[in-house]
Amino acid sequence: MKKTTYDTVYDIIVVGAGHAGIEASLAGARMGCRVLLLTGNLDTVGYMSCNPAVGGLAKGHLVREIDALGGQMAKATDHAGIHFRRLNTNKGPAVRGNRAQCDRVMYRTYMKGAIEQQEHIDLKQATVTSIIAD
Ligand SMILES: Cc1cc2nc3c(=O)[nH]c(=O)nc-3n(C[C@H](O)[C@H](O)[C@H](O)COP(=O)(O)OP(=O)(O)OC[C@H]3O[C@@H](n4cnc5c(N)ncnc54)[C@H](O)[C@@H]3O)c2cc1C
Repeated sequence: MKKTTYDTVYDIIVVGAGHAGIEASLAGARMGCRVLLLTGNLDTVGYMSCNPAVGGLAKGHLVREIDALGGQMAKATDHAGIHFRRLNTNKGPAVRGNRAQCDRVMYRTYMKGAIEQQEHIDLKQATVTSIIAD
């Protein structure tokens, strides 16, 4: 396997530009850290599963927490949402929650743009095969 060397010295290297990696990279860069985001395929940055739903009872809570901490997921959902629903309105308030269905292409295009426009992040296509912890 060919090894790649980067000239820049990074404070944080994030492996994988899925939902978690995007939030981690943006959070690090917004704190002023120099971030390298490595992902196996640049065309699948922020890729949503076959069911592009954001929210629901438990995950809706998580999305709100990410939003409260300044994250990107709820903003991307506002941008790419095509169907918004409040669940369980005929049941008690404890089991109600919001859920959105998104346009998958719009969502990942928005997320890739957010990464590319954020200062201090270098996004590169590469597969990480080992981590050297010193
Ligand atoms: C069929 C299915 C349906 C789902 N439906 C929903 C839903 O409706 N709503 C919902 O909220 N969640 C849903 N999920 C769950 C959701 O997809 C995951 O919770 C979410 O994708 C996890 O995000 P992540 O960033 O941890 O990982 P991922 O989204 O999997 O991202 C990981 C990224 O890291 C990259 N990567 C991995 N290894 C390396 C490496 N060694 N080097 C470089 N890059 C690497 C991968 O290519 C990928 O881009 C569903 C999952 C599946 C499988």
